[in-house]
Amino acid sequence: MSQGYLNPPIDSENEGFWEGTRRGELSVEQCGGCNALRFPPKPMCPHCRSTERRWVPVAGEGTIWSFVLPHPPLLPEFTELAPYNVIVVALSEDPTLRMIGNLVNEPGDAINAFEPSRIEIDARVRVVFEAVSDEIQLPRWVLA
Ligand SMILES: [Zn+2]
Repeated sequence: MSQGYLNPPIDSENEGFWEGTRRGELSVEQCGGCNALRFPPKPMCPHCRSTERRWVPVAGEGTIWSFVLPHPPLLPEFTELAPYNVIVVALSEDPTLRMIGNLVNEPGDAINAFEPSRIEIDARVRVVFEAVSDEIQLPRWVLA
């Protein structure tokens, strides 16, 4: 368990995502009408307007599309960790599918331990999971 992060809330829109992470899978929503992938989850497909949807696993690989190094003022839970990195990952299945996370040296490592000068746009990354509560296996990213 980890450092008192603010854990994301689980609700009916995202529970399939968190169920996947507990199996060690990164998932995105897939439209039941046109099979388009989407993330974050939405109640209706922006392409065909179908409300049918399911969670499907993806490879958990991608590239760094962008990143920031947050500095205070931050929420109290994150102030002591600053500066740390927050990266935006473009998924390999579709680079327009992007997930926000942290780049770490290895699974379970602190989010402020990765040397910021080593973060490069377009670097290949793969997902790892960190248990931050009984319900939340939080996706993090390591260099591939
Ligand atoms: Zn659709």
